[in-house]
Amino acid sequence: MTTDQNFTLAEQLDRDDPLHKFRSRFYIESENTIYLDGNSLGRLPLRTKELLSEVIEKEWGTELIESWNRHWYQKTTQLGDKIAPMIGASNGEVIISDSTSINLYKLSHAALNLQKGKTTIVSDALNFPTDLYILQGLLKEFGPEYKLNLAQTNDGISIETEELKSKITENTALVVLSLVAFKSAFMYQLEEITEYAHKMGALVLWDLSHAAGAVEIELNKSNADLAVGCTYKYMNGGPGSPAFLYVRKDLQDKLSSPIQGWFGDALPFEFDLNYRPAQGIRRFLAGTPPVLNLMAIEPGIEMINEAGMATIHQKSIRLSEFFHSMVASQLKNYGFEAGSPTEPEKRGSHISLKHVEAYRICQALIQPKTSTIKIIPDFREPDNIRFGFTPLYTTYKEVWQTVHRLREIIENKEYEQFSTQRSDVT
Ligand SMILES: *Cc1c(COP(=O)(O)O)cnc(C)c1O
Repeated sequence: MTTDQNFTLAEQLDRDDPLHKFRSRFYIESENTIYLDGNSLGRLPLRTKELLSEVIEKEWGTELIESWNRHWYQKTTQLGDKIAPMIGASNGEVIISDSTSINLYKLSHAALNLQKGKTTIVSDALNFPTDLYILQGLLKEFGPEYKLNLAQTNDGISIETEELKSKITENTALVVLSLVAFKSAFMYQLEEITEYAHKMGALVLWDLSHAAGAVEIELNKSNADLAVGCTYKYMNGGPGSPAFLYVRKDLQDKLSSPIQGWFGDALPFEFDLNYRPAQGIRRFLAGTPPVLNLMAIEPGIEMINEAGMATIHQKSIRLSEFFHSMVASQLKNYGFEAGSPTEPEKRGSHISLKHVEAYRICQALIQPKTSTIKIIPDFREPDNIRFGFTPLYTTYKEVWQTVHRLREIIENKEYEQFSTQRSDVT
């Protein structure tokens, strides 16, 4: 297809898009900015802007401490119940608490204790660093007989199922995996891995940070044990919004949080001097949540539930397939290489392209000197540009424009005007 034919197709796809109406519910300062980093920090829902001023003025400003009973105290479980359908979980299995890193620590620690006697943890070489750092810390805490075994990657993009399975043995206490890999977007078959790990007597903890709100997830149907994930990525909860955690119902009262804070106590306001873990999911709370960030999560979740995960996932696939086909036809021989799996069922909602000049191309997209279009993807070392497609607000026309800009940047060598010096946050 020529670039003009692709443009006509993009316009057609936007007109037919069942999620078209959601874009206008986000704060979009300029139509000339194409935001493809919703997998790292989601856009601001307009309702959140309004809601936060209400929370600040009415709840904090006017109702002060009374707001705890009226609005805040139950919010962690109420929002958990709203996230549950998005990830195929049930009421009472999900709660908002702390950060993803801390939740990963709490649940891994609890799982290792439940599995006393088994001393290996399995993860993979594509996992997000914080996940591996937390596990390395747990090894120190649990003792020298504990080991972390990482499944390796052949191509830097995916992990073969057989390779992962070969690491899981009868001595495996816990398998910790990101459902969608942060760099390549490689996605595991959640049900197959969970079933295999269970057969070997291991528990599985899924990190859903790059998956929740973008792809369909069936935790209950897959009999998944544990999960954690961010709310500031595809859920649009805002910078630093607290994370969620999931524990399957029958496991909840068998697991103990290593951080025995008062919010996880059965009756925090009795101020008893001895900790008694709450029944159910609340026992995984630690202390007071960041209330403003917590309250900001709701509008993003409600939009996702209104749109429905099946429709969202379908559009994610269509956006990325459109991007793939345009890259194949328009950027052939421009030095780009695939950094993500080509099959949509093996991928989350972003696509990485590799290029030796990836960093400077990224800079040229973000700070255009000649074009009026600013495009924000992100760069991941050493040579990946990640393009995140957020079905609620990314349009097919934006995908078209992105490939068009990439072509311009390479043809005019625009990247040469930038330095290779990295900023603090890339
Ligand atoms: C984004 C992300 C995190 C971030 O964890 P924080 O504790 O919120 O900083 C963790 N794990 C994965 C897989 C992620 O994608």
